[in-house]
Amino acid sequence: MATPLVHACVGVTLVAIPLLTNKQHFNLPMPKVIAGSILFACLPDLDLIYSYLLTGDAIRLHFKHTHTLVFSLISGWLVWWFTNTKLALAATLLVLSHVIVDGLTGPELGFYSTPGVPAFLPFSQLPVSFPMTLFHGVEHDNWFSQNNLINAVYDIAIYGPILAISCWCLIRRKTLDSFKDREQKG
Ligand SMILES: [Zn+2]
Repeated sequence: MATPLVHACVGVTLVAIPLLTNKQHFNLPMPKVIAGSILFACLPDLDLIYSYLLTGDAIRLHFKHTHTLVFSLISGWLVWWFTNTKLALAATLLVLSHVIVDGLTGPELGFYSTPGVPAFLPFSQLPVSFPMTLFHGVEHDNWFSQNNLINAVYDIAIYGPILAISCWCLIRRKTLDSFKDREQKG
């Protein structure tokens, strides 16, 4: 699994692109759009919590049914059920972004095959892997290992600024939009 920072960064940036290029519009305050994007982009890793609660071992049920195409579709369907809006499509794509990012995650960056993600569970156990590794994986056996700490610093240095820029652009854009609306009304 990649770090939550990578998932948050990919999620918010994915949502920022269509909003900033005027291709989409959500009737929601930007802080809620950003918080929702982070929530859905990180949602599959909630299996760590329920795995710990159910089995006493955070890893036992991790990286299984929440890291799949089916879970992406169920998440989107639930959002559709509650909101009846295109937020459902955004939720599906955000959860799917998590699955793809984890699929592109491995122990070493570069042209190394990734261990893969069980994207087609429950229909197929075969992991979907990619021929290149774009994101560092987190070592589960020792959360505070030297590798994890180095990778965390790397992720903060690379993905922290991208996430901050995406959030800043979204909030600034909304402020500009509200300003324009006020001018037009006034
Ligand atoms: Zn994950």
